[in-house]
Amino acid sequence: MAVKFLKLLLVLICFCFQMAFADVMKVNDITFDSSDSIIFVSTSNSDGDLKIKKGHLSNPDRIYIDIENAVLTKKQTLYEFRNGKLSSLRISQFSTNPHVVRIVMTYTSKFKPEDLKVMSVGGNIILKLENYKLTQDYLTQVYREVKSSTYDYFEKVQVQEAVPPQVLEQIVLNPAEPNKSNVVQPKVILKDEPVRVNPAIQESKLRSRYFVADASVKQGALLISGTGIVNLEKVFYLSNPSRVVFDIPNAVSAGKIRNKTFTINETENAKIGQFEPTKVRIVITSPDADKYRAVYSGDLQNILIVRDDKIAGIKLFAETTKLLSAKVKTKKEYRTQKDTLSLDFEEPVVYSIKRNGNTSLDISLYNVTLYSIPSLLNQIQQGNLKNAVIDKLNGGQGIRILIPITDKTTLDCVENLQSTKLVFNITNPLQQQQKIGKGLLNKKIIVLDPGHGGTDPGAMRESVMEKHIVLEIAKLVEQKLKNQGATVYMSRSNDTFVSLSDRVVFSNNRKPDVFVSIHINASENSSVHGIETHYYKDDSIDLAKHLHKSIIQKINDKDRGIIKSRFYVIRNTDAPSVLLELGFISNEQERELMQTKERQEALADAITEGLINCLSDGGTK
Ligand SMILES: [Zn+2]
Repeated sequence: MAVKFLKLLLVLICFCFQMAFADVMKVNDITFDSSDSIIFVSTSNSDGDLKIKKGHLSNPDRIYIDIENAVLTKKQTLYEFRNGKLSSLRISQFSTNPHVVRIVMTYTSKFKPEDLKVMSVGGNIILKLENYKLTQDYLTQVYREVKSSTYDYFEKVQVQEAVPPQVLEQIVLNPAEPNKSNVVQPKVILKDEPVRVNPAIQESKLRSRYFVADASVKQGALLISGTGIVNLEKVFYLSNPSRVVFDIPNAVSAGKIRNKTFTINETENAKIGQFEPTKVRIVITSPDADKYRAVYSGDLQNILIVRDDKIAGIKLFAETTKLLSAKVKTKKEYRTQKDTLSLDFEEPVVYSIKRNGNTSLDISLYNVTLYSIPSLLNQIQQGNLKNAVIDKLNGGQGIRILIPITDKTTLDCVENLQSTKLVFNITNPLQQQQKIGKGLLNKKIIVLDPGHGGTDPGAMRESVMEKHIVLEIAKLVEQKLKNQGATVYMSRSNDTFVSLSDRVVFSNNRKPDVFVSIHINASENSSVHGIETHYYKDDSIDLAKHLHKSIIQKINDKDRGIIKSRFYVIRNTDAPSVLLELGFISNEQERELMQTKERQEALADAITEGLINCLSDGGTK
């Protein structure tokens, strides 16, 4: 008996010993995909051995996920969401003995708890709220030649410290207008004694779209696998040693592959790093760096980075597909011509896009079997694709479409979630400069909304007032838009006070194509500067992108991104609407600049050009 007990004790001691010295996993961060459908929890775990419990709490209905043997390295945080299936998510250290990190999700009636899938990929945790991949058909960007900046990737969410349990109800109020220096305090109803509650902070939160879970070398190529939607930027080359760089924007990589080098052979290797919080970078070192290209799998979850001279020897697909149709549409924009090539397939397509210097664009479709080259040529040889060439790929299977380009050509490619449709936008400068100012906005109705006015000066520093600057800029924009044939309505055209609701009613009564609110930003920190574009409704994203892109291209200032925000005017107007923050009055240099005619003209030009690109020739509308 005594021996048995001693044995048990020994076992227990050993067990405890093990427990105490077992690595406690770190839970480092949590990010969200742009649809709130995927939540990435990044951990320090590398062996993939995770203990996770899922449970339900009621009143209100919540789901909790307990990650065992884990410590939270970031502050406990409450994320609040304004639309979609989740209304909030809290991550906190639930207990320290044993170590448990708890994620509690409060959901809306749109969410079915049984749809939640908890996955462990590469030692990290992925929570999938729905199987959106099979149900949606929207197009998503997979390749772009324009460098990504912060836009698309951040959204402002309300972040709060966890509040003490005495708090019965907490309502976060949203500032109806930007630039009010007073932070809106949460409304708190207390039970007994007062408790200190930190004000809600608006924080720009990274919303990832792709999680790079793993990487491995297969048949002399680098296979990148993950969850979400993979997206690549234009590749670029470095020398000494010769390297090629593939950037995956809007992505987070698993800790275990970060900064790791993968040997391909004696002379070639690959390294993966988290280059920016929003960007995963893959660097291939090879004497033949220019031979590398990325092949997209048929499900947007994987890419294979492989040499041109090795592709033929690798089995890239299990199923073949049939090219159902090819169409080209040509659209003249402000100073450019965009040729859009749409390819439809019966089954998911495996393909790659490679730019051969400034001579041609190579679109290789590997698993396409049924096609007729003459009829395909007939369909695509239009616009700037009139000299396109179609080849059979090496090995007989699949085809390659070669499109002549110049150094001024830019490309972006979108794909549907089923990988059965590819749309290439190939943009070239217009051959002969068209006369600008010839009714590019005929029949368009635009409401311009200079912020503040009258008794409301808006943001103010050194007696410089936002209301005056935004009115000056709006008046310039008004004239430029009218020169293009647009009908323009100004919510105010002099220094008078107009309430937010009156601005909305004014706009809605005029049924404009778009509503553009013009503001100047302010911050307590005088070094903060740059340009932000805010939207709220989904129908306004396209307008926001056009305006932001145009302003960032024309104005030499920091790109602070396109942000989804709940400003009153962009939330309540019927038309697609944006609110522009054209600089910071609190930054001395910008304050001085924005008072100059040159800067105001340049901003007005940029806004005008953005609106032309968005609205002319069947843009958004
Ligand atoms: Zn303002």
